[in-house]
Amino acid sequence: MTAAEPMQSFLDVPTLTFVAVCLATLLGLFLIFAWAQQRDARALAWWGSAYLIGAASMTLWGQQTPIVRVPPEVPGALFFLACGIIWSGVRLFHGRKLLPLPACAGALGWLVLHQFPSLTSAGGGPIGLGALVVACYTFVIAWELWRERRESLFSRTAAIVVPCLHAAIFLMPFALQAVLPEKAAPNLMTVLALETIIYAVGTAFIVLLMVKDHHVHVYRRAASTDHLTGLLNRRAFLENALALSARVARRGGKVTLMMFDLDHFKSINDRFGHAVGDEALRVFAQVVRSSMRADDIVGRLGGEEFAAIVPGDMAIAAKIAERVRASFEAAGVTIATHAIGATVSIGAATAQAAQVDIDAVIARADAALYCAKHNGRNRMEAAPDAEEAAAPPPPPAMTLPQSGLTVRRHAGAEGQRA
Ligand code: GH3
Ligand code: MG
Ligand code: MG
Repeated sequence: MTAAEPMQSFLDVPTLTFVAVCLATLLGLFLIFAWAQQRDARALAWWGSAYLIGAASMTLWGQQTPIVRVPPEVPGALFFLACGIIWSGVRLFHGRKLLPLPACAGALGWLVLHQFPSLTSAGGGPIGLGALVVACYTFVIAWELWRERRESLFSRTAAIVVPCLHAAIFLMPFALQAVLPEKAAPNLMTVLALETIIYAVGTAFIVLLMVKDHHVHVYRRAASTDHLTGLLNRRAFLENALALSARVARRGGKVTLMMFDLDHFKSINDRFGHAVGDEALRVFAQVVRSSMRADDIVGRLGGEEFAAIVPGDMAIAAKIAERVRASFEAAGVTIATHAIGATVSIGAATAQAAQVDIDAVIARADAALYCAKHNGRNRMEAAPDAEEAAAPPPPPAMTLPQSGLTVRRHAGAEGQRA
């Protein structure tokens, strides 16, 4: 007796197929019901339909005495169509374009191949070819999910690992058949049917977890985004600034915070209207975003005031600030077809990331911003180092005896904007 025989005797293919059909139908209806509850998650409807098509395919495949007569290649084609629909659902879920032709390619290719029987006998016979198609779709699904890894959600990791395992297990019987003597090799249909059942149940759970995670992500993003510019709002900026500082503190570096304030913005509103003012804010947000790296933190603190925090010292921040200033000067010449000539003033302050007190750094950057306004606007000013600012201040003003000139020193946090 071979090792595979006892397994086949109590896990016979018709029973397994029957269980697989019932499960796939139930899960398909369940996913469609879940879609009806939250209509914005359209991918659920696609996945539910795929399960139902899969169930239909297995029914046609497993019928002992043919009730519905179809050409023998139809169940396989339906099964690959279901795989293509699952893949389409994943693309839809991540806001990507649907690709109908590749989604149907497996099914169409299968139908065409069956017109040439000599071709289907290659590569382990029709079942071998079929498993290869399923494995291909599964790896593509895993790839789609992998591309989305920046959201780094738990369910996404599971969603990548499970399809890969599935594809690997799907291909394993063929590898075993090639390696083991004919009698010792496991029955292909038994292994595939059993694996499909486990995969179908596991996938339905992962799919629901992914949809839930996605919703949490969407709500969280909405709560932390400024709706006019799409940048972080004040609260989210402060949270992210602290997180960035903590990361930089681990390697003992500095962070530099920049405060941006659009020049004469009230006058832009007064002369061109609030809508044009809003457009100027959007243009500035775009300029600042495209002048910085994706992992730099930028937010709108309120009104026409923005802030950014970057790893590094004043020399790095000065380059970024100059890039933002110059780009906005160019972009602000004309906004919404009006000759506006909008500009921005910038104040920057550096701190050791390990000891950062965000409120204090903002106050120092704000004082430097005040200097930039005072010195003629459309420029960047740097706050003195925190240590220097903490040193006992020199007399606030002194009059040089001979010249009568008054010399003032801008002491970081002391300055307050009018
Ligand atoms: P300064 O160069 O000194 O910064 O002068 P300013 O006119 O830019 O500064 P001020 O603080 O006097 O004016 C800011 C204006 O920004 C006043 C307010 O009406 C306008 N504002 C605040 N929030 C918004 C907004 O969301 N949209 C628009 N269009 N205007 C806004
Ligand atoms: Mg202001
Ligand atoms: Mg202003």
